[in-house]
Amino acid sequence: MKVCSFCGNKNISEKKTQYIYKHDNHFLLVNDVPCEECDYCGEQYFQSKVLKKIENDFLALQGSTRQPKKSILMPVDEFSEIED
Ligand SMILES: [Zn+2]
Repeated sequence: MKVCSFCGNKNISEKKTQYIYKHDNHFLLVNDVPCEECDYCGEQYFQSKVLKKIENDFLALQGSTRQPKKSILMPVDEFSEIED
């Protein structure tokens, strides 16, 4: 039985989520990443092999040994410049 280490809740569900890997201002967005999510607080837990796989993919993309399925253009803003 698993317990959420964040809130102590015992109801944890297996889900798939969108994961954003970030390294030195480079991003990799991966869809449908398996995780376990706390039903109460929403904290998400990933297996280390899942994270390792994403990290390896990031390195492969950086080294151009692999091409991503697709790329998106992401808007960037500075919080201090956002108008109320
Ligand atoms: Zn929790």
